[in-house]
Amino acid sequence: MMPAMRRVSRWTIRSMAAAAMALACVLGGCGGADEPAAAPYATDAVSVTFRQETVGDRAAVRGDADFVTMSTEGRLVVYAADRARAETAIRAALDRVAEIAAALNRYDPSSELSAINAAAGGAPLEVSSTTGRAIEAARHWWQASDGAFNPLVGPLVVLWKEAARAGVEPSDEAGEAARALLDMSALDCEPLADGRYRVRLPQAGMQLDLGGLAKGWAAEEAVAAARRTEDPHSVLVMLGGDGTVWSEPGWPRKWTVAVQDPRDAGSRTVLTKIELANGSVVTSGDYYRYLEVNGRRLSHIIDPGTGRPTTGRLAGATVIHPDGGGADALATACMVLGPDEALALLARTAGADGLMLSLSGEALVRHETAGFAACEIGP
Ligand code: AMP
Ligand code: MG
Repeated sequence: MMPAMRRVSRWTIRSMAAAAMALACVLGGCGGADEPAAAPYATDAVSVTFRQETVGDRAAVRGDADFVTMSTEGRLVVYAADRARAETAIRAALDRVAEIAAALNRYDPSSELSAINAAAGGAPLEVSSTTGRAIEAARHWWQASDGAFNPLVGPLVVLWKEAARAGVEPSDEAGEAARALLDMSALDCEPLADGRYRVRLPQAGMQLDLGGLAKGWAAEEAVAAARRTEDPHSVLVMLGGDGTVWSEPGWPRKWTVAVQDPRDAGSRTVLTKIELANGSVVTSGDYYRYLEVNGRRLSHIIDPGTGRPTTGRLAGATVIHPDGGGADALATACMVLGPDEALALLARTAGADGLMLSLSGEALVRHETAGFAACEIGP
């Protein structure tokens, strides 16, 4: 018997407000929506609307979906030739998001990720291509970030969350024990002939936590699923601050994505905006999501080098990358590394650009790549 002991929706410690670290600002306004869709969709709290719109010299149907997934507010916008195509694309994207959320939720005991974690130190498991590919992506970005991004921080995340609950820092012994479980090079993740994967965590106690990459990866996978339907013109998927946009060649309008001021928790003040036709943009930050131990605010991001929450050298990191998992993992790695090493990481990563924000007293200090400045259109 497997009673629902834990709530599936407890996906990460990210709160709803936290999820809105960066907001999609879609040009063209949001008024005048009509005709809500009747059939149920795969994600929670969905509202879907369609309306006719003219974009440049093109007439198109625009479909908007607001939903909740992975404890995060999601937003999806599709432009297509007609309503049927827009709806098909939206359904495909939401189905894909729901599938990924179910597979990678480490707080749901019935997810594939939980099964892998439960089997750590034991026999290998066969898992779906979704789970296998996400783990492969995480391993790639672990390597590319020289270990600043490390999805085996699972036990350290749990340790520091417990510390926050108890109001006492973890003991040195507990910290050392969790740090001994970070060896990603020992992880076994092999594709099988049928597209599934065989995965094994070699040490008992190891726990994968894909929270640093899953939303960005899922946003890109959702856009890809929408594109595989009947030729949408343009698609945006934002999961909290993690987004992917795509437009067909010649589509007359780029997407605008806003980066929120990381100091301004409540009012979602826009710090700056970037324009993008294709690619992913992800913001990682500590301002909303943090742990508190003895009145001290601690980051929810763990520095794998020390086994402790990162020291807050950055208030926020926004990364642009052609792939969603890459943008997400890089943004988390940047938060670990601090401004100088983060810029060095982005400089040596093909296709990566970013804006890092540090605090000098109350003032924000910008650290950005030239490519980021080129996409930026200002507040
Ligand atoms: P993000 O908001 O994308 O920066 O992801 C933060 C989440 O990733 C945390 O809540 C943890 O679940 C996980 N995480 C924390 N530290 C790391 C790290 N150094 N590498 C990979 N994932 C991490
Ligand atoms: Mg991330």
